[in-house]
Amino acid sequence: MRRRYILIILLTVVLTAIVVYTTVYFSAKPAQLAGVDTANTFYQHKVIPVVVQNEIKAALSYYPELKETSIHFVFDPNTSKSIMLSQPVLGSIFRGQTGRAYVVKINPNFVMAHGSMPIQNVPKDILVGWFGHELGHITDYTHRSNANMILFGLRYVCSDYYLMQAERNADGYAVEHGLADYIIKTKNFILHTADLPQAYKDRIKKLYLSPQQIMDMTKKLKKDPDTTHIKSPAAI
Ligand SMILES: [Zn+2]
Repeated sequence: MRRRYILIILLTVVLTAIVVYTTVYFSAKPAQLAGVDTANTFYQHKVIPVVVQNEIKAALSYYPELKETSIHFVFDPNTSKSIMLSQPVLGSIFRGQTGRAYVVKINPNFVMAHGSMPIQNVPKDILVGWFGHELGHITDYTHRSNANMILFGLRYVCSDYYLMQAERNADGYAVEHGLADYIIKTKNFILHTADLPQAYKDRIKKLYLSPQQIMDMTKKLKKDPDTTHIKSPAAI
């Protein structure tokens, strides 16, 4: 009997830890993050750092439906294993699916095997592809209800399969929005830039679509524009 209680307590602790971790992972308060300057707000409902404004605006121009969506692009060195990270803002969840705000955290330094490169020195097309991919994530989030978002977040942090699916969805949206060439350039840059850490390249190879898969997706899309390569929010 006592063992059963201990098991229930343990299970509750583990579940609570997962929920807390997911909430923290998928939330952010942009105003508290570095790089936010309201003077930089020159695109509707957006906060965009000046040094990468051209690349962000170029990527945004492919997503006209996000014009009304509040997105803060902010510099933040804590982007986990990624260079960029897109998340809904926790406080905005209660505004409902259409009123939700998002943050794209950008690591100010592109970490390489030997040293690092300030993000604004990364070639323009590569950055447009990268922002295009992040906006693909945000498009994916805008199609999810709050409940679906929470479930998605839980699965994303617990399973590589769902993480992979989320990355493929983001690429799928970017390709559908006409960013295929940029996405391919970005992938090739990551996979063939000799100075990037091998572990990072391996992660990209394992979890993301390859340049060839993106090309195949684009061809199929051109042949049959109704084809979708994106798993519906209900499915993942
Ligand atoms: Zn991604």
